Amino acid sequence: MASMEDLCISIDIGGTKMRVAVIDRSGTLLQRDEEPTLAHQGREQTVERLTRIIAKLISLTGNGKLVAIGASLAGPVDPDAGTMNSPPNLPGWDGFSLKPLLEQTFNLPMWAANDATLGAIGEHSYGIGQGVTNMLYLTVSTGIGGGIIVDNSPMLGVRGFAGELGHMSIDRNGPICTCGNVGCLETFASGTAVAKFARERLEGGQDSLIRKVVDGDLAMVNSKMVMDAAGQGDPLAVELVEQFASNLGLGLVNLMHIFDPQMIILGGGVSQSYQVYSAALDVAIRRHVMAHLRERINVVVSTLGDDASLLGAAHLAFQRGGRGV
Ligand SMILES: [Zn+2]
Repeated sequence: MASMEDLCISIDIGGTKMRVAVIDRSGTLLQRDEEPTLAHQGREQTVERLTRIIAKLISLTGNGKLVAIGASLAGPVDPDAGTMNSPPNLPGWDGFSLKPLLEQTFNLPMWAANDATLGAIGEHSYGIGQGVTNMLYLTVSTGIGGGIIVDNSPMLGVRGFAGELGHMSIDRNGPICTCGNVGCLETFASGTAVAKFARERLEGGQDSLIRKVVDGDLAMVNSKMVMDAAGQGDPLAVELVEQFASNLGLGLVNLMHIFDPQMIILGGGVSQSYQVYSAALDVAIRRHVMAHLRERINVVVSTLGDDASLLGAAHLAFQRGGRGV
């Protein structure tokens, strides 16, 4: 490395894993490490381990010039202070900001945002959304997160709450959601919801391949098993996947009517089974969408996968880093 190349520290803290990477302006991950978050052991323990990983990666970085830290956090984040607001998967982080500690420890400015917003920024900057001016990103896994890009800019809202696309209600009589609302898209079309509906039907005695896959232990049922069984033509799984696609489609139609995006990008674990439900999703969208938009449906799968938020955090760090703290 002859010249001093601009680099950033990018961190992604989720309920299960925390990842740290050193990333350059082209989006190349030069160093990376990850550890389980172990949120139940308490925030201080997690932050201490995080700080140690960052220090280790910086020591491996060599000649580059670090310009900022970008952080992707699982929950609503205040865009200026970096303060989290009741993140469901990070107990103990409500009202907490990593910013003062990390800025002081590493003498770098730090910027933070919600993980799904940064997933959208990642895809827009380095992934399948490059060159797309208006796009939505939905991460469908345990829950459903969302990020919105309007006229090439992320839409954060006044308090960083914009883009909670999974908490759009599609049924006033639907299940109670963890957010306090009822019938949220997340309660119908997340991986957790698909697994729950499958479990209920299996507990009711319905015959299915899924029962054999888990050897009768219904607590083990997950959405991937349902998707895989549907791919093999299992009638219960096919029915559940059609129901899932119908609900996700209704949610996407609402979003198309509000945002008129060029592209909707699906990320998260459930997007990996896209080929199983893409036809049913297309049928559902066509059934509900305004006629003019019917030939302009553009739903695609994320190309960055698990790294979308990490790369979005890097983009945020490079974009805001130079402006000082
Ligand atoms: Zn909700």
